[in-house]
Amino acid sequence: MSLHRQYVALVHLRILVCATLTALLPLTMSGPANATGADALWPSRAASAAAGTRFVLAISIDGLNPTALRRLGVARAPHLHRLAAGGSGTLNARTEVERTVTLPNHTGMLTGRRVNRFRGGHGVWVNHDPGSTVQAAAGHPVRSVFDVVHHHGRRTGLFASKAKFALFHRSWARSIDRFTVITDNARLVAAVRRDLTPHPRAFTFLHLSLPDEVGHAQGFMSPAYLQAVHRTDTRIGELMATVNRSRRLRRHLTVVVTADHGGLGAGHSRAGRIANYRVPFLVWGAGVARGKNLYALSRTFRNPGPRRSSYAARPRPIRNGDVANLSTSLLGLPPVPGSEFDADQSLRVR
Ligand SMILES: [Zn+2]
Repeated sequence: MSLHRQYVALVHLRILVCATLTALLPLTMSGPANATGADALWPSRAASAAAGTRFVLAISIDGLNPTALRRLGVARAPHLHRLAAGGSGTLNARTEVERTVTLPNHTGMLTGRRVNRFRGGHGVWVNHDPGSTVQAAAGHPVRSVFDVVHHHGRRTGLFASKAKFALFHRSWARSIDRFTVITDNARLVAAVRRDLTPHPRAFTFLHLSLPDEVGHAQGFMSPAYLQAVHRTDTRIGELMATVNRSRRLRRHLTVVVTADHGGLGAGHSRAGRIANYRVPFLVWGAGVARGKNLYALSRTFRNPGPRRSSYAARPRPIRNGDVANLSTSLLGLPPVPGSEFDADQSLRVR
């Protein structure tokens, strides 16, 4: 590529990044888009709209308060910003209403259900591995996105950085083709990168714990926490480098990034606090519209502003629990049986 064309591409990218983030939230840009070496790691062209999703990589960043992305700016969180600019997203999605802790929200992401088992929810109220199953917690059968993908003859994987995710393997053992727990996030991401090529799974779920761990130790939104989000952004960049190197992944992989909860100060357990219930929801990759706010693409969803929003709200906010049926929808599969969130698969990313 000539120097001139590179320059033009760079300028175009900067405009795109700035425009997108302005649309996503009232960001104060703290650095130019090309302030880091991120450019080299990212596919220079988005997959064409004609390229269908054959693989989904869902990433949950434990305890990611979206305000951290604004604080870090493009310079210190280049990959997550690039994901937002090159795809569609919002930094104002919601957690489960009842709980803003890890296991209940991940169970929601995998099942598309609320927590309350008396209202058809998954029943996982506790935040430690109960040693039983999601079905036992619910008192009724509970299917997952793994079940749907596996049932249609396609492969799945769950890569987690906390041992309590064994709850999910126990609950859907036959549908999770690979279950890996490695607490070190860098080693875990290395394992996912090795697993993505040459034969990617139809559905891979990756859980990254570092921001939550540092948040509990030194305070959410503290300098140490922001550094942990920065390091997690580096992990995202490593994954994207793997995507960039594979034509197959560039054309057919869709990445979804969200969080189980946010956090501020000492913790994140108060479910009525906006710093805890507001999470990001970013979608990037095959066929995903570039630089769009997700709320602008789907009429059945509406940005809740600062509100927590009940399950009865219509149009409803995008929730982290939409991961399940956005994934089935992208893969051309039916919704998770018994699910509530986006059961009509109306969340649009194209
Ligand atoms: Zn936590």
